[in-house]
Amino acid sequence: MNNQEAIETEIHKAFNNSKDFSDESFHSAIWNASTVILNGLEVQVVIDAKNELYISYGTAGFVDFKTIPEGMKLPVKCWIHTHPFGAAYFSGTDWRTVNIWQPLMKEAYVLGGEDHFGHWNNQEPNVLCIHKDGLYTLQHQYKGDEEE
Ligand SMILES: [Zn+2]
Repeated sequence: MNNQEAIETEIHKAFNNSKDFSDESFHSAIWNASTVILNGLEVQVVIDAKNELYISYGTAGFVDFKTIPEGMKLPVKCWIHTHPFGAAYFSGTDWRTVNIWQPLMKEAYVLGGEDHFGHWNNQEPNVLCIHKDGLYTLQHQYKGDEEE
């Protein structure tokens, strides 16, 4: 089994248990794919309107979500990607992605470890709610700030 097949198997299995993209065990499977199976590559999962998963991976800073994959049904329910170095926040690239997709994407998660993730929704598009160890902080988008 190659890496793509291995992570597809792991992530689909977890998703099929609950069909809930906010589920902790689903996020754990994505985190495990990113940090154990791929040994620290970034994983991205897009859940479309029909609950189909689009899974890809790459090196750090990778966001391969500029074009709509074939067959994807809009609006996107959720975009999830990992920061395998262990810090959940939105980079400049991540903000640009949610800014572009905001009309057609309901929620997003960035995963930074066990019990550590950022959650975004398109009703409050300039805020990322970062959860860590049961507490949370807010990251605000300041437009014009080009810092990565
Ligand atoms: Zn990111």
